[in-house]
Amino acid sequence: MPLLARMVPSPLSVDIRRGAVEGLAALLRDQRISSRGQVAVVVGPGQGEQIIAVVRPAFQNAAVYPVEGGTVEAAIELADSLRAGSYDAVVGIGGGRTLDVAKYAASLTGLPMVAVATSLAHDGIASPVASLDHDGHKGSHGVNVPIAVVVDLDKIPPFTDSKKVNAAIKDYAKMLLADSMVTNFYQKIGTMGMADLQNALGGLPVRNFSAGRLADVAAGEKFKMGGDHISQLNVSRGGEHTHACMPGCVIQCSNVYVDASGKEVVSPVEYETLGLLGTNCGLSDPDDLAQMNFLANDLGVDTIELGATLARRLAGILSAMLRDGTTYAPGVVSRRAAEAAVPV
Ligand code: SF4
Repeated sequence: MPLLARMVPSPLSVDIRRGAVEGLAALLRDQRISSRGQVAVVVGPGQGEQIIAVVRPAFQNAAVYPVEGGTVEAAIELADSLRAGSYDAVVGIGGGRTLDVAKYAASLTGLPMVAVATSLAHDGIASPVASLDHDGHKGSHGVNVPIAVVVDLDKIPPFTDSKKVNAAIKDYAKMLLADSMVTNFYQKIGTMGMADLQNALGGLPVRNFSAGRLADVAAGEKFKMGGDHISQLNVSRGGEHTHACMPGCVIQCSNVYVDASGKEVVSPVEYETLGLLGTNCGLSDPDDLAQMNFLANDLGVDTIELGATLARRLAGILSAMLRDGTTYAPGVVSRRAAEAAVPV
């Protein structure tokens, strides 16, 4: 696997602590982002102005750009203003909308962006995507990942009534646990049960989307790539089939898949992986799929995209070989496969 394919972009610096905002100018200096504080500071409504007041003394050379809303137009307008100045970086201070506008404008102008989050209720702090409104619709726009992320725990607003919030969380958990869909389907079988349903309906991705059903269960064929079979197999081997992939989740639709000796292979095996990396690549045994899932995780590649790519390539190879009736050497096979790849 080439080195580049094993790399994940991430911020150079992540500073999460009380009083982190006071250290912003030092962070920019130490990380060689801006030695003189010549930055464009983008602030949103909320706490942006207050934070500016705190960091102002250390940012004498900074220009402040207030932004309202989270639209493509606001980001383009900001980018135009940035081009008129001369900055080392863009510092976005605010919630998700403000950071997304700042990220998009920074990407348009080729400037590094520092995210100073005043809210944690979104994933835009360090994501390579900006969610922006345009023409009444929200769209996702690819952007550069922020070069640094700052979260000042003193600046994150507390809940107005944390007792009420906790009570609502408890009530919601109770409602979930009273739902038979949660207890009988998600906890016992998990998302892999969707493979049984799709196989029955004929909507399962099979052999590069050339079929929608791997096994005709109504005609007595055994379907091993769905939750009905795998949950029983996994539990009988000592695997965990009611598992929370993150602490606190009461739905627990995840699983820990084990091999015949009871040793963990991968966690979890999910519907999307079963379909795209499994049946769509011609696999019919969950043990083979679990090994592929493990390899994908180990290489850091997405199982869905890997499965779709492999299936297409495999279909190309088969198509080329069937057409020519020839056996190719491995290098030739991949070249012929690329030529003959069947569009999905
Ligand atoms: S957090 Fe994990 S275990 Fe819980 S519902 Fe989501 S995927 Fe399932």
